Amino acid sequence: MRVRIYPLALGKAVKYSLMDLEREVAGLLIGRYEKKQDILEIWDAISGNQKSSSAFVALDEEVMAITFEWLSQERPGLNIVGWYHSHPGFDLFLSTIDIETQKRYQMMFPKAVAMVIDPLKYAETRKLADLKFKIFHIDRQGRIVPLRVSIGIHRTKVIESTIKGMDTVDLFYIQPPEVQEEYKQKSTDTLTDVFKKLRKKFPPL
Ligand SMILES: [Zn+2]
Repeated sequence: MRVRIYPLALGKAVKYSLMDLEREVAGLLIGRYEKKQDILEIWDAISGNQKSSSAFVALDEEVMAITFEWLSQERPGLNIVGWYHSHPGFDLFLSTIDIETQKRYQMMFPKAVAMVIDPLKYAETRKLADLKFKIFHIDRQGRIVPLRVSIGIHRTKVIESTIKGMDTVDLFYIQPPEVQEEYKQKSTDTLTDVFKKLRKKFPPL
């Protein structure tokens, strides 16, 4: 499997990672899997409430539930295809906790990926060459595999993913708390319900 990430998704994941250089930052990756070409396309990156320290981050469970509900209503064809998080200043790898988290994502969606970003050097120099990230997957043998990543340049998809992705910035960051609250209340699913729904939608390959 290869990964194709579209510009807005990469830009947003980097932007959120740069928001806190003292602590890890995490969020979800939105996209779809193109079976024919065996390519995972990442169209969007979102963030949400989370608990974090300098070497740990966990998204609140409701972020996934809200996102899942929202995608099924507003973004047919797009799914949660993984997660990203930052390792400010300590290299690109999956920690033991990251591996456990990634396994949970792959249980929900077998093609799910984990993107790790180290934004520290880039924050200092603002040179693109210093922008470091890798995308990982765990294979059937339990090995951590870094995936080949390219930037999506397909014209129609760039435009579509940008327009759709700009809309989710509003949803998760700019909307006033009462609007976010309204979205939360719409979703009464527990995480277990979300897992069940995802399992039904994405039976193991
Ligand atoms: Zn980590």
